Amino acid sequence: MAVLNSDLKSYNTFGVSAQARAIHSIHTESELIAFLEEDTLGDDLVLGQGSNVLFTDHLPYRVGLIRLKGRHFNPYSENEVLVTAAAGEPWHDFVMWTLEQGFGGLENLALIPGSVGAAPIQNIGAYGVELKDSFFSCRAFDRNTREEKIFSTEDCAFEYRNSIFKSACKNQYVIVEVTFKLSRNNHTLNLSYAPLKNWFSNKNGDSLRPIDVAEAVCNIRRSKLPDPAILGNAGSFFKNPIITADFTQSLLTKFPEAPLYPQPDGTFKIAAGWLIDQLGLKGYRQGEAAVHDKQALVLVNLGAASGNDLKDLAQHIKKSVFNVFGITLEEEVTFYP
Ligand SMILES: Cc1cc2nc3c(=O)[nH]c(=O)nc-3n(C[C@H](O)[C@H](O)[C@H](O)COP(=O)(O)OP(=O)(O)OC[C@H]3O[C@@H](n4cnc5c(N)ncnc54)[C@H](O)[C@@H]3O)c2cc1C
Repeated sequence: MAVLNSDLKSYNTFGVSAQARAIHSIHTESELIAFLEEDTLGDDLVLGQGSNVLFTDHLPYRVGLIRLKGRHFNPYSENEVLVTAAAGEPWHDFVMWTLEQGFGGLENLALIPGSVGAAPIQNIGAYGVELKDSFFSCRAFDRNTREEKIFSTEDCAFEYRNSIFKSACKNQYVIVEVTFKLSRNNHTLNLSYAPLKNWFSNKNGDSLRPIDVAEAVCNIRRSKLPDPAILGNAGSFFKNPIITADFTQSLLTKFPEAPLYPQPDGTFKIAAGWLIDQLGLKGYRQGEAAVHDKQALVLVNLGAASGNDLKDLAQHIKKSVFNVFGITLEEEVTFYP
């Protein structure tokens, strides 16, 4: 288990500096067990690619970078295959590899940063698809007992940008492997998301392959989202709020153009980016922390922002949105310590 220097700057996509007590790079399951055994206070943090976290101060504990590698597949039924990847595999590389094998299911989730092991934590989603749609199971270690446990889809209690690993069992398990059930042929493509539908509007849907959808997703994402390698960010900073039908009615009387998406349970999802944009906050900056000038939902580090600068900016946005709309934004990004 390699022990690295203790600055987390290169291990989070915001590119903010924060000192950890130590940083360990974990490449095997036995290294992970050893790391967990040494965690006597039970407060150490495991990280994948650091693309969904914000370090608001120094961390008085150790950080373990999950770098376990490996992937394989086995037939499941005539049209389905089970594909397994170790937690440290980069998510996008894994998605492209499944597509190169001719498997369908993960194409809409191409180019999401991060690791395979972190993908179930918040049930990653994009372009009308969520991880849970093709998730089969994951294998994880209990941090306290070091016992192994297999989680089914039901066990994970997936919700919009949430799962048992981000709620009831937060920080309790370390995921080491994730298995997906993907299609081998007769793929069902999901082009329901408007930008994707528009992209293919002139094409015959019957001849499209999953990899064509992934390429379109990558092109659309590159045109919309800042690249963390150039401008520090963690994608969407806030979740899209869910509001009741009654609240929706009163909101519509004041803001008839509000972008609302009906949910199966009768509630509505409202675009958080639209709320922020309505306040004229696109491009707004507080020192080196800013709202991206094209995507109001993305907060960026212009270069020298600290985690606290970004947290302050987030607080300002939350307060402003609440004052005008009466809606409380909830962070999608997890703050540490
Ligand atoms: C430009 C950009 C675009 C993005 N777009 C999207 C998007 O479209 N949809 C979306 O859903 N997300 C998106 N994200 C967020 C992010 O990519 C995902 O949440 C991703 O799954 C995080 O992976 P990670 O390895 O970086 O996790 P990290 O940030 O390292 O960790 C996130 C959380 O998971 C925990 N964790 C990490 N690995 C493990 C493990 N093996 N076992 C247990 N816990 C673990 C950490 O402790 C932490 O709490 C985007 C981020 C960026 C920077």
